[in-house]
Amino acid sequence: MSDIIHLLPDSVANQIAAGEVIQRPASVLKELVENSIDAGAGFIQIVIKDAGKTLIQVIDTGKGMTETDARMAFERHATSKIKEASDLFSIRTMGFRGEALASIAAIAQVELHTRRVEDELGVMVEIAGTRVFKQETIHCDTGTSFSVKNLFFNVPARRRFLKSDNVEKSHLLNEFYRIALVNPEVEFSFFDGEEEIYHLHPSNIKMRIENLFGKNLKKRLQQQLLTIETTTNLVTINGFVGKPEFVQKSPYQYFFVNGRYMRHPYFHKAIMLAYNQLIQPSESPNYFIYFEVDPECIDINIHPTKTEIKFENEQAIWSILNATVKEALGKFNIIPSIDFDQEGAPEILVNKSIENILPPQTSFNPNYNPFHTTSYHRPDMDWEKLYKGFEQKKEIQTNEQSDIKENEFLTQHTETGNEQQTIETEDVVSAMNFQLKNKFIITSIKSGMLLIDQHRAHVRILYEMFLNQIENKKGLAQQVLFPEVLVLDADHSLYFNQIKSELLKAGFDFESTEADTYNVTAIPSQLGSVSVIDLLHEMIANVKQTEQNPVYTLHDSLASTLAQAAALKSGHTLTKEEMNNIIDKLFACSNPNFTPDGRIIFSVITNEEIQSKFR
Ligand code: ADP
Ligand code: MG
Repeated sequence: MSDIIHLLPDSVANQIAAGEVIQRPASVLKELVENSIDAGAGFIQIVIKDAGKTLIQVIDTGKGMTETDARMAFERHATSKIKEASDLFSIRTMGFRGEALASIAAIAQVELHTRRVEDELGVMVEIAGTRVFKQETIHCDTGTSFSVKNLFFNVPARRRFLKSDNVEKSHLLNEFYRIALVNPEVEFSFFDGEEEIYHLHPSNIKMRIENLFGKNLKKRLQQQLLTIETTTNLVTINGFVGKPEFVQKSPYQYFFVNGRYMRHPYFHKAIMLAYNQLIQPSESPNYFIYFEVDPECIDINIHPTKTEIKFENEQAIWSILNATVKEALGKFNIIPSIDFDQEGAPEILVNKSIENILPPQTSFNPNYNPFHTTSYHRPDMDWEKLYKGFEQKKEIQTNEQSDIKENEFLTQHTETGNEQQTIETEDVVSAMNFQLKNKFIITSIKSGMLLIDQHRAHVRILYEMFLNQIENKKGLAQQVLFPEVLVLDADHSLYFNQIKSELLKAGFDFESTEADTYNVTAIPSQLGSVSVIDLLHEMIANVKQTEQNPVYTLHDSLASTLAQAAALKSGHTLTKEEMNNIIDKLFACSNPNFTPDGRIIFSVITNEEIQSKFR
């Protein structure tokens, strides 16, 4: 039998590959304008005809190309932006794959004019279906102009696949918005046929938003947006969120990271939760949010047309974002202030360096980074151990400043407690605590008053405990006298088998009676009187969801569901011991500030605030 495998000619291979990068006129616009941004252009002009189907032209005042580069640019994997694999982790440019021009040239007729400032003459290249038709030196302005004509001229099936002009035009505009919003210092002009529909002068982000969207909004955007800004060692977040009274049916919602548009359903949720109860569930606020992170901490290398970006510290950034938005809303007195207090409130803690963190957090380990939510190996602390530290402190008080700091939390309890020097552990706590409305624990600290949401605190404590059990060891199991029966359908049975070993570690035990049917013979002893079968179904459903939208890890999801179910609820009257226990365990947690889903656990009311009430 003769051999039948052969290599495809370049033109065919490129055409196939082009399908990945170029799906519609908007993809061409995106690639060309991003190249202009990367070339440092101060002015970019865009011209489209017939919704980009006959022409997309992008003219820029960027750095231009040499004659050789102008030809090279159309080769597949030809790029000036990265050199080696390690560069992938420090990408600051929009492009880096070196695929766009090769793809465009495979499925359209392209004309390139380009000249660098230092060159007297420019160069012109004409290329279509990967074949170069013309290349010559020309007189032209500095910068680069790409004309892309008759998109998919040689792939009729794809051309037919294009949508109506209106739909394609709206895709084009959306790509344009995404780039214009994150490059406000660049001047843009956008022509649809003969008509200039946008001329955006260099400005700041707020003006850029107003210039792009102002006329579509009921009132001036300026009045509708609240500024957010926060800087932490993980991330810098800047931008604007809409005031709750200005929600729209189809809101403007934009995330950018390091100058690049992204979609991020998980962060979207952080924002929506911050608006919880301020807007109707069917409404959605405007937001324009700009993240800056170390390029090493994100993965943008997923797919050329995908806008999802993976963050290394997604959960911590989620919490910071959520707190930042809440804070912005709170500053405008929109939410009752108990949820997130002004200065000294937990969200501020997140933003400050470790030294500035308030007593409850630094008291146990000043070097601890609260964002390291992945490491849960922190030993459980109890008051005896803390008390030991306190004793030590008294012995070395005169010469060891750092140790004094280490025990600040206790010292502060002592100081506020009638300046007593010898204080019993229990007194320190119980003398200071009481419960408010069966919902909050209030305790006195040096800088004022600490309000702890008892349910959320317990969720955090149990979450870390369950997570630790699932990841490290077997949890305490409690045998069940009369096992309940778990019956699963085939789909859920698959997911159940996926998490079964984790459930065993958490303290569950099962006995399989027949296919997809289990007796639940043991449950984690901390679970109390929850409905076990409902809980198991909920965990399976959550795991399924986690798989489809993997923002939480499997372990997170299980631990979080267990913790939510087992945590004591608001409305539960607490004994002194229970309150002590919660405070004790909460501040031994690796992140006492937030629940696993990012809600604030405690709030500080400062001495000044209390004083101000009596002026
Ligand atoms: P990438 O942007 O991933 O590098 P492209 O195929 O989009 O790949 O572009 C290939 C190369 O062509 C770029 O790396 C750049 O050097 C050059 N180039 C493309 N567009 C321009 C432009 N408008 N101005 C200057 N150089 C450009
Ligand atoms: Mg590019």
